[in-house]
Amino acid sequence: MSTRLYQCIEAIGNKIIENKDFLTDLDREIGDADHGVNMARGFSEVLTALPQDETDIGAALKKVGMTLLSKVGGASGPLYGTAYMKAAGPAAGKTEIDLTVACEMLKEAIAGIQMRGKAVKGEKTMLDALIPAYETMVSCIESGDDAKTTLEKMCETASMGVEYTKTIQATKGRASYLGERSIGHQDPGATSSLITLEAIRDFL
Ligand code: ADP
Ligand code: MG
Repeated sequence: MSTRLYQCIEAIGNKIIENKDFLTDLDREIGDADHGVNMARGFSEVLTALPQDETDIGAALKKVGMTLLSKVGGASGPLYGTAYMKAAGPAAGKTEIDLTVACEMLKEAIAGIQMRGKAVKGEKTMLDALIPAYETMVSCIESGDDAKTTLEKMCETASMGVEYTKTIQATKGRASYLGERSIGHQDPGATSSLITLEAIRDFL
Protein backbone atom coordinates (compact mmCIF):
# COMPACT_ATOMS: atom_id res chain seq x y z
CA MET A 1 0.00 0.00 0.00
CA SER A 2 1.63 3.24 -1.11
CA THR A 3 1.47 6.36 1.05
CA ARG A 4 -0.26 9.59 -0.02
CA LEU A 5 3.21 11.10 -0.25
CA TYR A 6 4.30 8.47 -2.76
CA GLN A 7 1.03 8.93 -4.67
CA CYS A 8 1.68 12.68 -4.96
CA ILE A 9 5.21 12.15 -6.30
CA GLU A 10 3.81 9.45 -8.59
CA ALA A 11 1.23 11.97 -9.87
CA ILE A 12 4.02 14.45 -10.68
CA GLY A 13 6.13 11.72 -12.34
CA ASN A 14 3.25 10.38 -14.40
CA LYS A 15 2.27 13.83 -15.67
CA ILE A 16 5.89 14.57 -16.62
CA ILE A 17 6.14 11.19 -18.38
CA GLU A 18 2.81 11.82 -20.21
CA ASN A 19 4.21 15.15 -21.44
CA LYS A 20 7.56 13.74 -22.53
CA ASP A 21 7.04 14.36 -26.25
CA PHE A 22 5.48 17.79 -25.71
CA LEU A 23 8.44 18.95 -23.57
CA THR A 24 10.93 17.48 -26.02
CA ASP A 25 9.20 19.23 -28.94
CA LEU A 26 9.41 22.57 -27.10
CA ASP A 27 13.12 21.95 -26.50
CA ARG A 28 13.57 21.09 -30.20
CA GLU A 29 12.54 24.68 -31.05
CA ILE A 30 15.06 26.47 -28.85
CA GLY A 31 17.37 23.78 -27.47
CA ASP A 32 18.53 20.26 -28.20
CA ALA A 33 15.27 18.27 -28.06
CA ASP A 34 15.96 16.41 -24.84
CA HIS A 35 14.02 18.12 -22.03
CA GLY A 36 11.10 15.67 -22.07
CA VAL A 37 13.43 12.71 -22.48
CA ASN A 38 15.60 13.94 -19.59
CA MET A 39 12.69 14.58 -17.24
CA ALA A 40 10.79 11.39 -18.09
CA ARG A 41 13.91 9.28 -17.56
CA GLY A 42 14.54 11.01 -14.22
CA PHE A 43 11.02 10.49 -12.93
CA SER A 44 10.90 6.85 -14.07
CA GLU A 45 14.00 6.35 -11.94
CA VAL A 46 12.40 8.30 -9.07
CA LEU A 47 9.31 6.08 -9.09
CA THR A 48 11.49 2.98 -8.95
CA ALA A 49 13.97 4.28 -6.39
CA LEU A 50 11.52 5.86 -3.93
CA PRO A 51 10.16 3.40 -1.33
CA GLN A 52 6.33 3.34 -1.60
CA ASP A 53 5.97 3.26 2.19
CA GLU A 54 8.14 6.35 2.87
CA THR A 55 6.24 8.78 5.12
CA ASP A 56 8.96 11.34 5.94
CA ILE A 57 8.38 14.11 3.38
CA GLY A 58 11.89 15.52 3.80
CA ALA A 59 13.53 12.12 3.31
CA ALA A 60 11.40 11.42 0.24
CA LEU A 61 12.18 14.75 -1.42
CA LYS A 62 15.87 14.31 -0.71
CA LYS A 63 15.72 10.96 -2.46
CA VAL A 64 13.84 12.51 -5.40
CA GLY A 65 16.48 15.25 -5.66
CA MET A 66 19.41 12.85 -5.46
CA THR A 67 17.87 10.61 -8.11
CA LEU A 68 17.25 13.55 -10.48
CA LEU A 69 20.80 14.82 -9.86
CA SER A 70 22.36 11.47 -10.68
CA LYS A 71 20.08 10.31 -13.52
CA VAL A 72 19.07 13.41 -15.46
CA GLY A 73 21.53 14.97 -17.85
CA GLY A 74 21.45 18.51 -19.19
CA ALA A 75 20.87 21.67 -17.25
CA SER A 76 17.55 20.55 -15.84
CA GLY A 77 18.88 17.54 -13.88
CA PRO A 78 21.11 19.53 -11.51
CA LEU A 79 18.56 22.38 -11.34
CA TYR A 80 15.50 20.25 -10.50
CA GLY A 81 17.69 17.93 -8.39
CA THR A 82 18.84 20.87 -6.29
CA ALA A 83 15.28 22.23 -6.10
CA TYR A 84 13.92 18.99 -4.61
CA MET A 85 16.92 18.60 -2.26
CA LYS A 86 16.42 22.15 -0.98
CA ALA A 87 12.64 21.72 -0.67
CA ALA A 88 13.39 18.75 1.57
CA GLY A 89 14.91 21.04 4.22
CA PRO A 90 11.75 22.60 5.75
CA ALA A 91 9.98 19.22 5.46
CA ALA A 92 12.65 17.20 7.30
CA GLY A 93 11.09 14.68 9.70
CA LYS A 94 7.54 15.78 8.82
CA THR A 95 4.81 13.39 7.72
CA GLU A 96 2.35 16.22 7.05
CA ILE A 97 2.84 19.79 5.90
CA ASP A 98 0.65 22.87 5.85
CA LEU A 99 0.69 25.72 3.33
CA THR A 100 3.18 27.76 5.37
CA VAL A 101 5.74 24.95 5.34
CA ALA A 102 5.00 24.24 1.67
CA CYS A 103 5.66 27.91 0.92
CA GLU A 104 9.03 27.72 2.72
CA MET A 105 9.82 24.62 0.65
CA LEU A 106 9.09 26.42 -2.62
CA LYS A 107 11.16 29.40 -1.48
CA GLU A 108 14.10 27.08 -0.75
CA ALA A 109 13.65 25.27 -4.07
CA ILE A 110 13.79 28.56 -5.98
CA ALA A 111 16.84 29.68 -3.99
CA GLY A 112 18.53 26.37 -4.90
CA ILE A 113 17.79 26.83 -8.60
CA GLN A 114 19.15 30.37 -8.44
CA MET A 115 22.25 29.29 -6.54
CA ARG A 116 23.04 26.70 -9.22
CA GLY A 117 21.88 28.48 -12.34
CA LYS A 118 22.49 32.15 -11.47
CA ALA A 119 19.31 33.20 -13.27
CA VAL A 120 16.71 35.75 -12.25
CA LYS A 121 13.11 36.25 -13.39
CA GLY A 122 12.79 37.30 -17.05
CA GLU A 123 15.60 35.15 -18.50
CA LYS A 124 13.23 32.59 -20.06
CA THR A 125 13.75 29.73 -17.62
CA MET A 126 11.76 27.60 -15.16
CA LEU A 127 12.01 30.54 -12.75
CA ASP A 128 9.50 32.46 -14.90
CA ALA A 129 6.86 29.95 -13.83
CA LEU A 130 8.10 29.25 -10.30
CA ILE A 131 8.73 32.78 -8.98
CA PRO A 132 5.25 34.11 -9.90
CA ALA A 133 3.75 30.92 -8.41
CA TYR A 134 5.67 31.53 -5.20
CA GLU A 135 4.54 35.18 -5.04
CA THR A 136 0.94 34.05 -5.52
CA MET A 137 1.37 31.47 -2.78
CA VAL A 138 2.56 34.12 -0.33
CA SER A 139 -0.43 36.36 -1.05
CA CYS A 140 -2.89 33.42 -0.88
CA ILE A 141 -1.55 32.50 2.57
CA GLU A 142 -1.94 36.13 3.65
CA SER A 143 -5.56 36.10 2.44
CA GLY A 144 -6.28 32.82 4.24
CA ASP A 145 -7.02 30.77 1.09
CA ASP A 146 -7.17 26.98 1.49
CA ALA A 147 -4.68 24.62 -0.15
CA LYS A 148 -6.86 23.80 -3.16
CA THR A 149 -7.59 27.46 -3.98
CA THR A 150 -3.94 28.36 -3.44
CA LEU A 151 -2.73 25.70 -5.87
CA GLU A 152 -5.35 26.74 -8.41
CA LYS A 153 -4.20 30.36 -8.27
CA MET A 154 -0.53 29.31 -8.36
CA CYS A 155 -1.17 27.31 -11.54
CA GLU A 156 -2.89 30.33 -13.11
CA THR A 157 0.08 32.61 -12.49
CA ALA A 158 2.60 29.92 -13.45
CA SER A 159 0.68 29.48 -16.68
CA MET A 160 0.85 33.22 -17.32
CA GLY A 161 4.59 32.94 -16.63
CA VAL A 162 4.91 30.25 -19.29
CA GLU A 163 3.03 32.48 -21.76
CA TYR A 164 5.38 35.33 -20.84
CA THR A 165 8.42 33.19 -21.75
CA LYS A 166 7.17 33.25 -25.36
CA THR A 167 7.64 37.01 -25.48
CA ILE A 168 11.19 37.24 -24.13
CA GLN A 169 14.70 36.39 -25.22
CA ALA A 170 16.61 33.62 -23.43
CA THR A 171 19.69 34.88 -21.64
CA LYS A 172 20.51 31.68 -19.71
CA GLY A 173 20.97 28.08 -20.78
CA ARG A 174 21.19 26.57 -24.24
CA ALA A 175 18.33 28.69 -25.65
CA SER A 176 20.44 31.82 -25.07
CA TYR A 177 22.70 30.72 -27.98
CA LEU A 178 19.77 31.59 -30.28
CA GLY A 179 19.67 35.21 -29.12
CA GLU A 180 16.62 37.02 -30.53
CA ARG A 181 15.55 33.88 -32.39
CA SER A 182 14.48 32.40 -29.04
CA ILE A 183 11.61 34.93 -28.92
CA GLY A 184 8.25 33.43 -29.90
CA HIS A 185 8.92 30.05 -28.29
CA GLN A 186 7.73 28.85 -24.92
CA ASP A 187 10.40 27.71 -22.48
CA PRO A 188 10.49 23.93 -21.89
CA GLY A 189 11.68 24.22 -18.27
CA ALA A 190 8.98 26.76 -17.35
CA THR A 191 6.51 24.33 -18.91
CA SER A 192 7.74 21.34 -16.86
CA SER A 193 7.51 23.50 -13.73
CA LEU A 194 3.89 24.37 -14.58
CA ILE A 195 3.16 20.68 -15.22
CA THR A 196 4.58 19.85 -11.78
CA LEU A 197 2.33 22.42 -10.07
CA GLU A 198 -0.70 21.21 -12.06
CA ALA A 199 -0.01 17.63 -10.99
CA ILE A 200 0.04 18.73 -7.33
CA ARG A 201 -3.16 20.77 -7.86
CA ASP A 202 -4.94 17.82 -9.46
CA PHE A 203 -3.70 15.48 -6.73
CA LEU A 204 -5.15 17.73 -4.03
P1 ADP B 1 19.78 21.34 -21.58
O1 ADP B 1 19.47 22.78 -21.88
O2 ADP B 1 21.10 21.17 -20.96
O3 ADP B 1 19.55 20.47 -22.76
P2 ADP B 1 17.16 20.62 -20.61
O4 ADP B 1 16.76 20.67 -22.03
O5 ADP B 1 16.78 19.39 -19.86
O6 ADP B 1 18.70 20.88 -20.45
O7 ADP B 1 16.50 21.85 -19.83
C1 ADP B 1 16.36 23.10 -20.41
C2 ADP B 1 15.63 24.01 -19.44
O8 ADP B 1 16.44 24.28 -18.31
C3 ADP B 1 15.33 25.38 -20.02
O9 ADP B 1 14.09 25.36 -20.72
C4 ADP B 1 15.28 26.29 -18.81
O10 ADP B 1 13.97 26.40 -18.27
C5 ADP B 1 16.13 25.56 -17.81
N1 ADP B 1 17.38 26.29 -17.55
C6 ADP B 1 18.49 26.31 -18.31
N2 ADP B 1 19.45 27.07 -17.74
C7 ADP B 1 18.91 27.57 -16.59
C8 ADP B 1 19.39 28.40 -15.53
N3 ADP B 1 20.63 28.89 -15.54
N4 ADP B 1 18.55 28.67 -14.51
C9 ADP B 1 17.31 28.17 -14.47
N5 ADP B 1 16.80 27.35 -15.43
C10 ADP B 1 17.59 27.06 -16.47
MG1 MG C 1 17.74 20.40 -23.75
